[in-house]
Parts: sequence; structure tokens; C-alpha cells
Amino acid sequence: TQQLGNYRLVRLLGKGAFAEVYLAEHINRGARVALKALRMYLPDERTHLVRQQAQALARLSHPNILSLIDAGLQFRQPYLVMEYAPGGTLRQRHFQGERLGIPTIHNYVRQITQGLYYAHEHGLAHGNLKPENILLDAHGKLVVSDFSIPALTYGAQTGAIGSLAYMSPEQIRGEVHASSDQYALGILIYEWLCGELPFQGTATEIAKQQISSPPPPIREKLPNLHPMLARVIHMALAKEDALRFESIQAFSEAFEQAIIT
Ligand code: ADP
Ligand code: MG
Ligand code: MG
Repeated sequence: TQQLGNYRLVRLLGKGAFAEVYLAEHINRGARVALKALRMYLPDERTHLVRQQAQALARLSHPNILSLIDAGLQFRQPYLVMEYAPGGTLRQRHFQGERLGIPTIHNYVRQITQGLYYAHEHGLAHGNLKPENILLDAHGKLVVSDFSIPALTYGAQTGAIGSLAYMSPEQIRGEVHASSDQYALGILIYEWLCGELPFQGTATEIAKQQISSPPPPIREKLPNLHPMLARVIHMALAKEDALRFESIQAFSEAFEQAIIT
């Protein structure tokens, strides 16, 4: 059996673009964790920065954020130890094109915004919100995972098609901040309501639309949707971040308001 640091790898849980995630257990304590082994070699000059950024993430403690427990290096290959989420991802939980009802969406949005609000208050943007990065714990609670560690992804190709679909215009241009998470959540809600993404096509086409095409009006697809709810979603999807809600908290309040009317 394979071992990494103090952990024995049990089985593969999932793969990302640059990493494998394993169910693992501590060799002495037996505690179950998820261990993410990154498929990269970390240059010496960046180890300090990675440690710093991982420590900042590990300080986040919120019921809707997947806890990062530890970070380490083995033969220059970085790995992250985190809480194991046995419920899988939102990508796995729903089939492609599935439309979710308002109560489910309401429940998801409330949990995600609470986690994001907490992270933003601590000065950290997620930067990669999408169904593959929203996990379910043993009780069915949502936990946001895979926060960006810039020092780890530096220089990497971020244009994977799965991510582009949720990427704000500013992020495509290479700058990420809290408001980019609001945009990604807007895309998620759009997808849950309509059963399809607002922007589709090849990677190049999606990137171009993210930057310059307004999303197809949600009420053309769902004429019965409350206009206020449609307005809130479209505002989160504003191309210019200054035109979005000023915080994920402000978005969340407007969303709640629209959903109860
Ligand atoms: P990447 O940064 O490469 O996208 P992720 O951290 O998102 O890597 O992990 C890739 C996949 O592994 C996830 O989409 C999920 O299927 C699975 N996974 C990641 N973390 C966990 C976890 N803590 N518990 C259970 N499964 C996980
Ligand atoms: Mg991921
Ligand atoms: Mg990632």
C-alpha cells in the first residue's frame, strides 16, 4: 500500500486537472481524511508562499467550508490533507441538465453563501466555484472545497472547459476577487433553474461570451419565474464587478427577499 506523510492511501476518490484525491487514514490514529496529491513539482522558492497560503486556508473554520487539516511536501510534490466528505460532489448528485426546484436551490444557495461570506470576511476568495468543488458531508450538508492556492496554481493552464463555464470576465483576464465568487454562484443558480448553462460552446467561445455577451434572459426560458428573482441573478452576472452586489452577503439578502415574494 502507498503512503504519503503519515497517511496510508485507501482508495481513489476523484481526479482534478492537476491532482488525485484519495481516501486515506492516519497510520497511528486511523482517522479518515481526504488526501490530495498534486501532480506537480514545487520549486524551492515557492514553498514558503504555498505554506503561507495553505495556513491561511487551514485557519478557516465554518460548517460550509471543507476543512484543510494539513499541507506537506514529499519529494517536492505538494499534498493537502483535508476533511473527508463522503457524500460526493454536487456534480455527481444531479444528472446533466437536471432542473432543481426552488426549495432545493434556496437551501443550496443559503449554505454556499454562508461559507463564502465567512471566507470573504477573512480576506479569502474561492476562485473556483463549480459543482465539482461543492461536496456533501455525511449529513448531506454542503461544504465548499478546492479554494484556490495561488502559489500552487501559478503558471498553470486554468482554461479547462469545466471551469470556464463558471468564470467571471475578470477571472478570464487573470484577476480573481470576492465578486468573482458571486458571479460563479450566479452561473450555478442559472444552471440549476434552467437545466443548462448560460454560455456554451468551445472553450474559446465560452471565454468570449463570458467577457462580452449578456446571458440569455432567464425569463425567456422560465416565464413564470418571479421577475425580482431573475433580476437578482442577472445582477450577479454583471460583466463589470462594480455592477454586481457589493458583497456575497448583499447578494444573499436580495436572493432571500426575492425568493419569499
Ligand atoms: P482539483 O483542484 O484538481 O479540481 P479537487 O480538490 O477539486 O481537485 O478534487 C478533485 C475531486 O476529488 C473532487 O471533484 C471530488 O470528486 C473529489 N474530492 C476532493 N476532495 C474531496 C473530499 N474532501 N472528500 C471526498 N471527495 C473529494
Ligand atoms: Mg476541483
Ligand atoms: Mg483546484
